[in-house]
Amino acid sequence: MRTPDEKIPVGVLGATGTVGQRFIERLAAHPWFEITALAASERSAGRPYGEASRWRLSSPLPAVVASLNVSAVTDDLPCRAVFSALDSATAREVEPLFARRGVFVFSNASAHRMDEDVPLLIPEINPDSLCLLERQRVRRGWTGALVTNANCSAMFLTMALAPLDRAFGVERAFVSTMQAVSGAGYPGVASLDILGNVVPDIPEEAEKIEREVAKILGGARDGSGGPAPIVLSAMTYRVPVEDGHTESVSVGLARKASASEVEEAWESFRGRADVSELPTAPSQPLVYLREKSRPQPRRDVDVSEGMCTVVGGLKPCRLLDWKFTALGHNTVRGAAGASILNAEFAAAKGLLS
Ligand code: NAP
Repeated sequence: MRTPDEKIPVGVLGATGTVGQRFIERLAAHPWFEITALAASERSAGRPYGEASRWRLSSPLPAVVASLNVSAVTDDLPCRAVFSALDSATAREVEPLFARRGVFVFSNASAHRMDEDVPLLIPEINPDSLCLLERQRVRRGWTGALVTNANCSAMFLTMALAPLDRAFGVERAFVSTMQAVSGAGYPGVASLDILGNVVPDIPEEAEKIEREVAKILGGARDGSGGPAPIVLSAMTYRVPVEDGHTESVSVGLARKASASEVEEAWESFRGRADVSELPTAPSQPLVYLREKSRPQPRRDVDVSEGMCTVVGGLKPCRLLDWKFTALGHNTVRGAAGASILNAEFAAAKGLLS
């Protein structure tokens, strides 16, 4: 692993939002990265971050950013890399402008995830998809790069399925999500809509899950950018939980597997050595809990500081082969933590020097 000689200057786009705040929390004392720019909408631009953001994480606002002025999102920010927590429409327009100026963009937005030459990267699962950057640079004629991480629900489903795909082949899967309110950003869902309630059908979420999981597992199978031919069907629900997306999953396998073989596939799952030694990589990307009533968001969302996916409740399924519950922290491993791990992986490959 290459450790950068000096800290790499980075910016956060959408810095005042829900995911932007997670970025700041996790970058403020990062060993390799140093925050040199914060950007948000015209509403926030020109004001010190401490004034412009309504900080709502339980950790205190890091002093190093409180007095930093928020800029508008312009491509001349003083950074080698930017972390994007912009809404998709804004991201679609501005992220390529940064890449064209030689900046590395690590994006949370869905805008470019499915572009053929854009890595949809989970380093523990499809690390070789970073090779797509060569094609991206030639094709788009830029010296920067655009790297994306998965939709939050797609992230946890992929993490749970990848070890099963590797060991037995996944043929089909059905997932119903129970997604936290922080997944809708701030102010997000009105309290009168969500308190004591469940709201079905989060717009465009099921489609994102179905296509992104197939793209990532396709890359893991053969290194291509093409989707794995897995039949996936998703239903999505917003629930009155603050943080943590829970998923009820049924999976059909190409080769029959016993419960203990499934458990062994989950428990032995690790990223490659060049991933597991990165500064914020979890020691175990997937944690299996044997208690039937776990995982639960309130009890398990912060396992490994929110960087792992927790699975449990494994049972035979009468429709497919196995069913289980998966959980992950939507703003950490489902968003900011995933982008930062992607950036660490790129930096360790010497791409950000
Ligand atoms: P959010 O809380 O609504 O924050 C949006 C951020 O974007 C704010 O900083 C806002 O700045 C800025 N912004 C809005 N319009 C802008 C514009 N026209 N120009 C420049 N900046 C603009 O949303 P979020 O939940 O953090 O989500 C951010 C992105 O991450 C979205 O693409 C979302 O789909 C994705 N994502 C979210 C989650 C999650 O769990 N929340 C998980 C995975 C992916 P102001 O404060 O100045 O308005």
